Amino acid sequence: GHAWHLTARPQGWPTPDDFALREEPVAEPADGQILVRNIHLSVDPYMRGRMSEAKSYVAPYKLNEPMYGGAVGVVLASRADGFAPGDHVLHDLGWREYATLAAKHATKVDPQAAPLTTYLGVLGMPGLTAYAGLMRVAAFQPGDAVFVSGAAGAVGSEVGQIAKLKGASRVIGSAGSDEKAEVLTGEYGFDAAINYKKAPVAEQLRKAAPEGIDVYFDNVGGEHLEAAIGALNLHGRIAVCGMISQYNATEPTPAPRNLSQIIAKRFRMEGLLVMDHQDLRPQFVREVSAWVRSGELTYRETVVEGVENTLDAFLGLLRGENIGKMIVTLGD
Ligand code: NDP
Repeated sequence: GHAWHLTARPQGWPTPDDFALREEPVAEPADGQILVRNIHLSVDPYMRGRMSEAKSYVAPYKLNEPMYGGAVGVVLASRADGFAPGDHVLHDLGWREYATLAAKHATKVDPQAAPLTTYLGVLGMPGLTAYAGLMRVAAFQPGDAVFVSGAAGAVGSEVGQIAKLKGASRVIGSAGSDEKAEVLTGEYGFDAAINYKKAPVAEQLRKAAPEGIDVYFDNVGGEHLEAAIGALNLHGRIAVCGMISQYNATEPTPAPRNLSQIIAKRFRMEGLLVMDHQDLRPQFVREVSAWVRSGELTYRETVVEGVENTLDAFLGLLRGENIGKMIVTLGD
């Protein structure tokens, strides 16, 4: 089977020269292991961090070895109790066609309960990030006005919809095209949407949230964070989930120039890592899957076909070519 290798550490924007798709032997499962044929691969912004050597919360990819990341697939062979051929599993050996892994690192998923792709998106890691970030880290309260950046993406689109369903007074989203802005207000029920490429964020946010915001869910950093600080009301909260505008930066990026407002506004700003919030998973799955079933919460996916296009899908994600979760499908 094929697997993607990182062959050089990208400087700035990754380029195809930093990667190679290589043929890998398919290992038979040893005791306690399963062999999986991957059906859907996830590409996620955090993977950019794994391509660098800089110390981070995720270990860097090793050069000239298969890369990894979220995937769902079907068990072909099993030497582990409780796993049988035909079972579907979620696991972390993506960026490849076949994976042999310890069954204890795989989670069984039910394709009857929800489409397999949703375990990588709306009901998976990005969904839990949205839920925990909004409800716990940002300490969302009904009546809050919420601003979310990266709002047409996997995490952001779910943040805005959960906020509406939980009684936000106003939800404003920011995204990088008019088409995306229309999806936010037309499909997801946001009250207002801005296209950050058209005019300064601060200016657009002032118009979209004339009474200010109580919560900012940050996926982007930089100019968006500065604009949000400016719009924040007394005792506002900022959950910092990501700063994708800086992931390919080659120079240190400026801090928000208005951070001193933290004193007068007594706002709180807290980073969030999804792995700290696994305890919320049952509650998250219960609530969000009910909303998905009832149609109150909708989601989009951008699906790219073929393992050979995984890198293009990842680069496209960094460029904003996705609406909703970016998925690579290898076919059933
Ligand atoms: P998305 O589906 O949101 O895809 C990334 C999006 O980022 C693109 O579609 C693009 O949309 C936007 N983007 C790219 N460059 C810029 C830029 N310079 N300025 C503004 N927007 C930009 O990805 P996810 O939902 O998976 O992730 C969203 C964020 O959440 C990321 O920052 C990610 O790192 C973070 N994250 C953090 C986790 C944690 O535990 N802390 C867990 C999961 C995700 P557009 O067209 O609008 O520019």
